Amino acid sequence: RFISLEGLDGAGKSTHLSWLTAHLAERGIDHLVTREPGGTPLGEQLRELLLKQPMHLETEALLMFAVRREHLAQVIEPALAAGRWVVCDRFTDATHAYQVGGRGLALDKFTMLEQWVQGREQGLLQPDLTLLFDVPLEVSRARLANGRELDRFEREQDAFFERVRDAYHARAAASAGRMRVIDASRSITAIQAELAQLLAA
Ligand code: C5P
Repeated sequence: RFISLEGLDGAGKSTHLSWLTAHLAERGIDHLVTREPGGTPLGEQLRELLLKQPMHLETEALLMFAVRREHLAQVIEPALAAGRWVVCDRFTDATHAYQVGGRGLALDKFTMLEQWVQGREQGLLQPDLTLLFDVPLEVSRARLANGRELDRFEREQDAFFERVRDAYHARAAASAGRMRVIDASRSITAIQAELAQLLAA
């Protein structure tokens, strides 16, 4: 299976990712944990640039998909072909949320790139299950404020994150059940119980 994790910065994605991998290990499920932007040596170098260097929004989108092309070829597709589970911290839904929703990249250009990079004979290669950790903007901002140094995306204004969150919700609504919106403002135990159920299904 191919599972991705999504959400605003500060939604608790990293905490839930650690729990999820421990849970899979306990169940004896062979899995690989990876992330975007990143996931390959080239992708990690591009991640550094993406997080630091301001650039035209289409350059940003092209680089996100370039990272993804490499990641699919080197890591994700071989693992899936070998029958392993792949758990990816952010994937294409993040590009839709941040670059289309947040920055205003034209949707048809996004769709073109998605088709280019993820189009396969059988259809679009995408996660079977996407966990969208959803928190109100105030919660996300408050959690970020007392954390580490912020990257250039995290330093954006609230209006940017409102658009990102709205774009995540719109995509979830159109995903035919692939994306599950998880209310991540609840207790960690409540969230873990829901995750265990979703993974068992
Ligand atoms: O989740 P993670 O901290 O790895 O994401 C790194 C940064 O890149 C975050 O600030 C996230 O908002 C941003 N990002 C983005 N567009 C993407 C993926 C991540 O702006 N497609």
